[in-house]
Amino acid sequence: MQPIQEIYPLLTTPRRVVITMHQKPDADAMGSALGLYHFLKQFGHEVTVVSPTNWARWLNWMPGCNTVVDFELNRDKAEKIMDAAEWFFCLDFNVLLRTKNMAPKLRSLNCTRILIDHHQQPEEASFAYGVSDTSKSSTCEMIYDFIKGSGHLDKINIEIAECLYAGVMADTGSFRFPAASAAVHEMVSYLKARGLNHTQVHENVYDNFLENRLRFIGHVLLHRMEVYYEYNTALIAISKKDLLRFEIKTGDSDGLVNYPLSIQGIKMAALVIDRDEERKWSFRSKGDFDVNTFARKYFEGGGHYNAAGGRSSASLDQTVEDFHRAMEESAAALQD
Ligand code: 5GP
Ligand code: MN
Repeated sequence: MQPIQEIYPLLTTPRRVVITMHQKPDADAMGSALGLYHFLKQFGHEVTVVSPTNWARWLNWMPGCNTVVDFELNRDKAEKIMDAAEWFFCLDFNVLLRTKNMAPKLRSLNCTRILIDHHQQPEEASFAYGVSDTSKSSTCEMIYDFIKGSGHLDKINIEIAECLYAGVMADTGSFRFPAASAAVHEMVSYLKARGLNHTQVHENVYDNFLENRLRFIGHVLLHRMEVYYEYNTALIAISKKDLLRFEIKTGDSDGLVNYPLSIQGIKMAALVIDRDEERKWSFRSKGDFDVNTFARKYFEGGGHYNAAGGRSSASLDQTVEDFHRAMEESAAALQD
């Protein structure tokens, strides 16, 4: 993988460009993809964002979101666009498998793949150019760095500002996590100077749910959360029945895993959801408990030190049992 800087001089030659991100894109994945989309279009590139799957309805406010092609929904169209791509940006994921059903197609393409990501252990051999930096708060921050590094900061317009702000805000927990560095605040300062209405973006992301989601959270916190004080750990396990009862859609469970961390002393919060094809895990931690390693070791996953995810093909009951065992094995690190 060559350094990303090497493509700066090539930016001004129009190309057919596709941008993608991890499956079930969140605010950082969608925000970075659309931020880059609005930037590249200004050079005359033919740009399309292809999402590996659908996304949360509360992301639809993002400028350009209505042009995003859902690979699973419009497979023929997506494959045609992918086949024609000269440049293929891969944002906010480290391994091609994170694009799920799109991965084999993405791997088979004979085009220039470019990585911009902040997850650990990227599959570097799959990319011609790229930047991978786990110290970065978000991929949106890295798109800002990319724009700045290429010498085109003046091309940041209100659309780009809104997209990038949304991702940084989401991935830093509204600027509370340690990754919200001085550079992040300087970036936000610049976006504000360009006219960003940050209050509006915050409302678009956090005050845009339907009633059922709030009822669902109430139900889950009351009936589905177990707290293991001896391990400073809390677990939320959600069945298919719960999802159906509250009509939970993609994105409605985002953020749920953070709630148990607000309990005094809790170091690790885990959430497992019984999805059709797998049991999907989310892990969050505070301080020195490394959920990236935990997710890798026990649940075929990974992510960051304090935020990671994983999966299991076992039943919900079985994977919860597996979690209990994993928690017991990690007792020393959880207890100190
Ligand atoms: P979330 O819990 O929000 O789905 O994911 C937390 C973090 O872990 C994100 O940075 C996400 O990209 C990463 N992550 C989630 N699921 C997986 C997974 O199955 N494998 C890997 N390698 N990373 C994951
Ligand atoms: Mn991210």
